[in-house]
Amino acid sequence: MATEVTTKEYRLLIGGQFVPAASGETFPTYNPATNEVIAHVPKAGREDVNRAVAAARKAFDEGPWGKMTPMERAKRMRRVAEILRERLEEIARLETLNCGKIIIESRADVAASANCFDYYANLTGHMWGETIPMNGPLFDYTVREPYGVCGQIIPWNFPLLMAAWKVAPALAAGNTIVLKPASATPLTALVLGEICQEADIPDGVVNILTGPGVEVGAAIAEHPDVDKIAFTGETETGREILRLSAGTIKKVSLELGGKSPNIVFPDADLEEAVNGSLFAIFTNAGQRCTARTRLFLHESIHDQFLSDFIAKAGKIRVGDPLEDATQMGPVISKRQCERVLSFIERARSEGANLALGGKRPDDEVLQKGNFIEPTIFTQVQNDMTIAQQEVFGPVLSVIPFRDESEVVEMANNTIYGLAATIWTNDLKRAHRLASRIRAGNISINFPTVNPPEAPFGGFKQSGIGRELSRHALDLYTQVKNVVVNLADERFDWYGKWPVGQK
Ligand code: NAD
Repeated sequence: MATEVTTKEYRLLIGGQFVPAASGETFPTYNPATNEVIAHVPKAGREDVNRAVAAARKAFDEGPWGKMTPMERAKRMRRVAEILRERLEEIARLETLNCGKIIIESRADVAASANCFDYYANLTGHMWGETIPMNGPLFDYTVREPYGVCGQIIPWNFPLLMAAWKVAPALAAGNTIVLKPASATPLTALVLGEICQEADIPDGVVNILTGPGVEVGAAIAEHPDVDKIAFTGETETGREILRLSAGTIKKVSLELGGKSPNIVFPDADLEEAVNGSLFAIFTNAGQRCTARTRLFLHESIHDQFLSDFIAKAGKIRVGDPLEDATQMGPVISKRQCERVLSFIERARSEGANLALGGKRPDDEVLQKGNFIEPTIFTQVQNDMTIAQQEVFGPVLSVIPFRDESEVVEMANNTIYGLAATIWTNDLKRAHRLASRIRAGNISINFPTVNPPEAPFGGFKQSGIGRELSRHALDLYTQVKNVVVNLADERFDWYGKWPVGQK
C-alpha cells in the first residue's frame, strides 16, 4: 500500500492567524490503512481555547461579520463552496489518507460539503420573523438573531462533512465559530479553515483548534463566552457536554449515536433490498451514526434473503482506500479495531451465529492497518449486546420477525432513535411503520441519505435538535420579540386610578 506523508505544516486558526499551540506541542495523526504517521498538528490547550473564544467574541461583537448584509455573507460562503470544488480531488485524498474511507466516498463528502455551503448561502436572506396580531393598539413582531459565539465539536467518521454541516448554517445566521475536529482526523477541518480565510470570511469568524476532546472540547463547552454548543459524537460524550455546558446555561444541540433498524417485508423488491441493505451497513466501514446495524427479516424470506445478502457481502473488496476499485477501507484506529473485535467476541459468547467475517483479513499488507472483514451475525436476539450497543464498525445483526407489531416493538426497543429503513411495496404499511417507528429519519425503499434540504437528527438518546435544512437555522438563531405601542393616547397606568384610591 502506498504511503503518503503530508509535508505541510499544519497550524491552528485563531483570529485569522495560522499559529502553533501556545504550548508549542504537537501530536501525530495517522493513516488508518497503514497506521503510519502522516502529519503532526498543534496540540491546543485551554490557553488556545481562551484565545480562540476571545477572537470569535471580538469578531461577533465588533464586526464586520455581523454588520454585513446577508448577501455579502452569502457571497463569501459560495466562494468556500467553489474552492472546495476546485480542490476536490486533493481534499478527498487527504480525507481518505486521514480517516480511511474509500476515495469514492471522500469525493462524495467533499462535493456534499460544497453543496452544504451553497445551500446555506441561499438561506442567508431567509431569517424571517413574524408579525403577530395583538389586542389593543400594539404592533408585535419577532426577529431572529444569531446566538453569538458557537462552539462546535465534531467526530471522525465524516471529518469534513460534519464540519460543513455545522459551520455553514452557523455562518449563514451571522454567528462566529470555534470548531474542534476529532483528534483522529484533524486535517481537512484545518484545510476548511484556510479556505474560509481565502474566501474572505473576516478574521476571527472561523477559528479552528485541534487537540484532545477532554481538554479542548471540555474547555469550549464550559467557556462562559461561548453562547452555544453544537456537538456530534457518542451519546456518552453528549451527556458530558450537557453537564459541562450546564454551568452557563448554553444552548446545546446534540447529534449522537444510533442502532438503526432496517426492516424487510416479503412484498419488497428483494433484490433492491439486498443491495440497499449492503449499502446501509457497510459503507464507511459501518462507521455511520445512521448505519442500519439491525437487519430485521420477515421469517418467510429470511433464508433466501440471507443467502443472497451474505454472498454479496462476502464479495465486498476490502483494501487500500485510495484505490478506486476498493469498496471498504479500515476502521479509524487500532483502538477502534480492537473495540469492534471485542464486540464480535461478545456476540459469539452470547450465542449469536457468526455467518460471515468476524476477523481481520489474512492479507499481510492489510494486517498493518485497521481492517476488519464485513461481518454478519445471524440468530441475534434483540436484547443481546451486539443488537443494543453502538459498535461503529462493519458488523451487522440479523433478527427474524413474524409480523408488523413484533418488528415495531423490537425496532423501537433501544435507547436510540436516529434512523430506520423500511423495505415494502405496500403503501399503507410503509406509512404506518414510518409513523410507529420512533426515529428522526425514516427511509422507505432507500438505504440512507442526508441531503442538505432535509432535516436530520435523533429521537430519544440520539440527540437534541435538527441539523440541515431550514431547521438548522433555528439551532443557530434565537427569537427576539418586539412590541410597539401605536396608540395616540399617552400610556399612564397610575394616572388612571380613581381619585382617592391611589
Ligand atoms: P466522540 O464522542 O468520542 O468524540 C466526538 C468529539 O468530541 C471529538 O471531537 C472528541 O475529541 C470530543 N470529545 C471527546 N470527549 C470530550 C469531552 N469530555 N468534552 C468535550 N469534547 C469531547 O465520538 P467519535 O468517536 O469521534 O465519533 C463517533 C460517534 O459519533 C458515534 O457514536 C456516532 O454515532 C456519532 N455520530 C453521530 C452523528 C449524528 O449526526 N447523529 C453523526 C456522526 C457521528
